[in-house]
Amino acid sequence: EVQQVSDLEKLQVLGSGNGGTVYRVCHNKSSKVYALKVIRGGATDQVRQEIEILRSCTDSPNIVQCHGVFEESFDDISILMEYVEAGSLDVLAKTLGSFSETIIANIAYQSLMGLDYLHSKKIVHRDIKPSNLLVTREMKVKIADFGVSKIIKSSENACNGSVGTCAYMSPEKFDSDGKDYNVFAGDVWSLGLTLMELYIGHYPYMQPGKEAENKSVIWEICFGEPPCMPEDASEHFKDFIQRCLQKDWTKRWTVRQLLSHPFIIGARQKVGIGSIKLGTKRENSVRSIGEIGELLERNLEFNK
Ligand code: ATP
Ligand code: MG
Repeated sequence: EVQQVSDLEKLQVLGSGNGGTVYRVCHNKSSKVYALKVIRGGATDQVRQEIEILRSCTDSPNIVQCHGVFEESFDDISILMEYVEAGSLDVLAKTLGSFSETIIANIAYQSLMGLDYLHSKKIVHRDIKPSNLLVTREMKVKIADFGVSKIIKSSENACNGSVGTCAYMSPEKFDSDGKDYNVFAGDVWSLGLTLMELYIGHYPYMQPGKEAENKSVIWEICFGEPPCMPEDASEHFKDFIQRCLQKDWTKRWTVRQLLSHPFIIGARQKVGIGSIKLGTKRENSVRSIGEIGELLERNLEFNK
C-alpha cells in the first residue's frame, strides 16, 4: 500500500553497515511504522539477489518480511520491511549483558526454523551473527540482512567466494584449496557461535581484557580448537553448541538434525517456546523470560 518513498517520513536511524542505512519510517497516510533500508550505489547483482530472496520468503514467521522495493533514482534502492521493534540481538546483548539458557533455547529454536525454511528453498544466508537476528516485543526472532546471501542453483559450484563476516565464518571457508564443502553447513557454524556469544556475553574467540593475547581470530578459527562452553551450562546446551561448532563440516549437524536435539526439544516442552508471549502472566512464572520482557519494554521506552 506504500506507493513511493516520499510518502514515508524518516524517524530515526536504526543501523548502518556495508549494505546501507536502515531507518525507522512512518507511512503518513496510514501512520504505520516500517523499517526502510536505503542502499546507495544502485542495483548490483548482489542487491538484486538480496531483493529476490526477500521477495520469495513471504511465508515464514522467522524471516523479516518485505513490503516493497523502490528504485527512484539511479543510485538509490530502498527496501521497505516490517519494523522489528526490539531490534537486533547485538544491541540487545549490550543492554542485557547475557542471556539465560531458556531464552537462548527459544532464540535457537526460532533461528533454526528460519534457517530450515531458507535451506529448503536452497538459500544460504552466509552472514548469521547477532546483528542480523532481529527480535520483536513478543520475543519472535526474525532473520534479516540478506546482503551476502545466495540462492544455490544446482548447476553451479557454490563453494567459491568466502563472503560474510570473517569472525563468524566457518573454518572450511578459509581453506583455499578448492575442496568442496556444503555451503549450508556454514550457517550452522555461525549460528552456534552466535548463540554461544549470547550466553557468555562476548565474542567467543575473544577474551575481554585480554585483547593483547588474542593473536589472529582467523588463525584461531582455522587452526585452534573450537571455543569451549563454560562449565555452568547444561549438558544439553554444551552438546548442542558442540554439534554446531564442529570444525569438520561433514561432522557438523544440519539444521534438521539440530531441530530434534534434546536442547531444543527439552526447552520446547518446558515452556512451549514456540508461542512465548512476553509480558503475559504465563511467562512471569519463568523468571528469566519475564525479566527479558521488562528489559525489552524499557529498551522500547528508551527508543521512543
Ligand atoms: P551490516 O553490514 O552491519 O551487516 P547492513 O548494512 O547489511 O548491515 P542490515 O543488517 O540489514 O544492514 O541492518 C543494519 C541494522 O539495522 C541491523 O543490525 C539492525 O540493528 C537494524 N535493522 C535492520 N532491519 C531492521 C528492521 N526491519 N527492524 C528493526 N531494525 C532493523
Ligand atoms: Mg547486518
